[in-house]
Amino acid sequence: MEYNIFLIKYAEIGIKGKNRYLFEDALVRQIQYALKKAEGEFKAYKTQGRIYAEALSDFDYDEVISCLKKVFGITAICPVVVFEDKGFDQLKEDVIAYLDKAYADKNISFKVNARRARKNYPLDSMEINSLLGEAVLDAFTEMKVDVHNPQMLLQVEIRERIYVYSRTEKGPGGMPVGTNGKAMLLLSGGIDSPVAGYMIAKRGVKIDAVYFHAPPYTSERARQKVVELARLIAGYAGPVYLHIINFTDIQLYIYEKCPHEELTIIMRRYMMRIAEQIAKETECLGLITGESIGQVASQTLQSLAATNEVCTMPVYRPVIGFDKQEIVDIAEKINTYETSILPFEDCCTIFVARHPVTKPNLKAIKRSEVRLEEKIDEMLRIALESKELVIAE
Ligand code: ATP
Ligand code: MG
Repeated sequence: MEYNIFLIKYAEIGIKGKNRYLFEDALVRQIQYALKKAEGEFKAYKTQGRIYAEALSDFDYDEVISCLKKVFGITAICPVVVFEDKGFDQLKEDVIAYLDKAYADKNISFKVNARRARKNYPLDSMEINSLLGEAVLDAFTEMKVDVHNPQMLLQVEIRERIYVYSRTEKGPGGMPVGTNGKAMLLLSGGIDSPVAGYMIAKRGVKIDAVYFHAPPYTSERARQKVVELARLIAGYAGPVYLHIINFTDIQLYIYEKCPHEELTIIMRRYMMRIAEQIAKETECLGLITGESIGQVASQTLQSLAATNEVCTMPVYRPVIGFDKQEIVDIAEKINTYETSILPFEDCCTIFVARHPVTKPNLKAIKRSEVRLEEKIDEMLRIALESKELVIAE
């Protein structure tokens, strides 16, 4: 089938006035970005209140659909065939040829829905509906008309050229990335944080990310895995600026000075402090983590409170109420799962105590942190100064 234009449908609720332009412009931008990953040349544009993605060269249909299915804000994708206007008899033939190719099984009910955007067309939309309907019934005896609940809605739009479409592919919903500010994702190599980033990006938030590694305790392969996860998130969210922080010295210093059962919490507090610092420098409006209540010792309500206490920015935890399996289901759907389960060590797990506190006492934690006073500020400064930036796309 020679589709060469895709009509992009989006939910219009809540996007009135000026917001509408912002929403549509961001959607066009994100479509253009997503199609960079597909073979071929494409142009996304807005015209007469509609958004289209047009192929300017040969392309692979499935690949284009899979790219478009990652663009938040799209509710449906309709592949369109465009015909030159060569009179109504020719249109009948074109439509029949289209249906013949598009539907191997003709045993379906349909309804024609014509729209005459160009008013000088010699037939009005009611006439087009009934004449085309008849032509289709004559051509395919198995097809039936059902005006109330058709299995196929054959859309015919008379513009400068004639647009015919009937198939729709479901989009991911959500809002176009870039319409709701930017936030900093704490991205580990695990299952949960990529899902958390995906969920916040789906609401239109642009994502930057920070990863803490601890070479040589964590390997280059562990780092590559996080870069790959950032790249997978970028498939949905646009380029992801991934900040990589060397956390080794800070981690060793905490290990040396603080009670081992408090290590994880104190480390998590330093991660949040550093993430917030980078977030402020990069105009992020919040932090995002993949925490879920009760999943591990560092995610009890007491631990979350202790971790949260160092943050002044809002911390978004979109998977907070999910069971592990529910998070895994999303990870599989968005294709991060296979990468997340690669067995490379995680910087948090290197120094974990055998019996970490599950109900940390904030006063005690703060007392322990006082023992770090001598060197920690200098270490934080060095960690921030030596940060690496990878642009994942
Ligand atoms: P995940 O599957 O996302 O790694 P987890 O269940 O392993 O989560 P933790 O290791 O306790 O949980 O981490 C909780 C959250 O802290 C993570 O979801 C992530 O947002 C952040 N985090 C943990 N380790 C790192 C790291 N090395 N770099 C960046 N963020 C991290
Ligand atoms: Mg983890």
